[in-house]
Amino acid sequence: MEPALESAKWDEARLRQAEAAAQAHLVGAVVSSWNNFQVTGRTVISHADGCRVWDVAGRERIDWVMGWGSLILGHRPAAIHDAVMEAMRFGLGYMYESPRTGMLARRMAELVPCAERMRLANSGTEATLHAVRIARAVTGRRLILKFEGHFHGLNDYLLFGVDGAKLLGEINDDGLIDPVPGSAGLPVDALAPLLLIAPFNDLDVLERAFAKYGHDIAAVIMEPVALNVGCIAPEPGYLQAVRSMASQAGSLLIFDEILTGFRLGGGGAQGKFGVVPDLACFGKAMGCGIPVAAVCGKAAYMDALSPVGSVEMAGTNTGRQLAVSGALAALDAMESSGAWHRLAVANDRVVAACRALLQRHGVPAYVEGFGGRIGVHIGSEQRPRNFREVVARWNRDYHVSLYRKLHDTLGLFGFLLPLGPCPEPITLSAVHSDQDIDTTLDRFETALRATPYQTARMP
Ligand code: PMP
Repeated sequence: MEPALESAKWDEARLRQAEAAAQAHLVGAVVSSWNNFQVTGRTVISHADGCRVWDVAGRERIDWVMGWGSLILGHRPAAIHDAVMEAMRFGLGYMYESPRTGMLARRMAELVPCAERMRLANSGTEATLHAVRIARAVTGRRLILKFEGHFHGLNDYLLFGVDGAKLLGEINDDGLIDPVPGSAGLPVDALAPLLLIAPFNDLDVLERAFAKYGHDIAAVIMEPVALNVGCIAPEPGYLQAVRSMASQAGSLLIFDEILTGFRLGGGGAQGKFGVVPDLACFGKAMGCGIPVAAVCGKAAYMDALSPVGSVEMAGTNTGRQLAVSGALAALDAMESSGAWHRLAVANDRVVAACRALLQRHGVPAYVEGFGGRIGVHIGSEQRPRNFREVVARWNRDYHVSLYRKLHDTLGLFGFLLPLGPCPEPITLSAVHSDQDIDTTLDRFETALRATPYQTARMP
């Protein structure tokens, strides 16, 4: 082990102390609810490198969560390390403008089709909160249309009809879905009436929604590829149709590219599908582990932000030099290292191999990937069109028994991680080598061999 990582080792006494402190003072012994993985709980990690994590017992695992999709360049990318060290020389945390801030905005404009202007934020949750506020200010309207199963962070306005919701909402006569809150503590009576929730990939429902409510829809917000419910791409022509319906109604189209962004080239899903939204949110891979996010968009709308317009978007921690330098380095390193090409190639390889393995072992499944976010939908070979179809077809019991083996005994971290109603996609990075992928697929096959499909209880 490198000397720098050697110091990450904790002796028994300190470990016991740290664990007691976590149990006593961290809620649920975690810093973020998601770290308490469903089924297998929390793992205390001592250090991470490349695509690997080591737990405090020294067990090494191949990471298939990769910072919930952030860590395209792996856990310790040299380029970001150097940029952050360099930035520290000029001031650790100042958040005033520097020459690098403008360069980052220019870089985003070069890469992302809609990004004439950019404003930074710290998390995806903040970015979607502000994007929706801009849309309401620009249009003077109240309603936001979102899609069932699409997740836009834990901001109250959009935390309905999400993948983590305990129940599926009732479907109304017009096809729209009753908003089910995704957390306790939401003022449902106040916020639910401001949302319309539609099934993804269903143009009829969308047409009816625009016919009835179009005059009051400020924005449509969507994950252009639904990556929080496995992986569901838009059907051919779907994004174009949503684009034109929104334009006709005078509503803004917001792409939440927090997961799709910087996984398949610099242009996000808008680059891939050739549909340009009015506003787009980025986070996660924009910083490759550095906490940074952004709202980008057309100047006509972004200029609603203060000091040009009157929409507030600011923050004590917004645009710190560390984040700006880190994001610049992340974007440059992804491009110059060929990370996007590597991700695309590895994505196709893992998708094909998973399909073949599942088929060979008689497990009905549909596998699809986008830029290394790969949804393995076990239970049916039919392609799901939306969240409801994912939920209806998923054989959770079988999926969980596979996942347990992979996690508990086969050294994979988060591979096939089950969530409540649907599977989390497995997440590739550009630093998963062919060897790492081979090893993972071998282990996946071992788990499949040990778990015959017919013995599992059907859901
Ligand atoms: N939007 C999408 C599509 C996401 O996947 C997430 C996080 N999983 C968010 C927004 C929220 O981002 P953050 O966790 O940085 O607040």
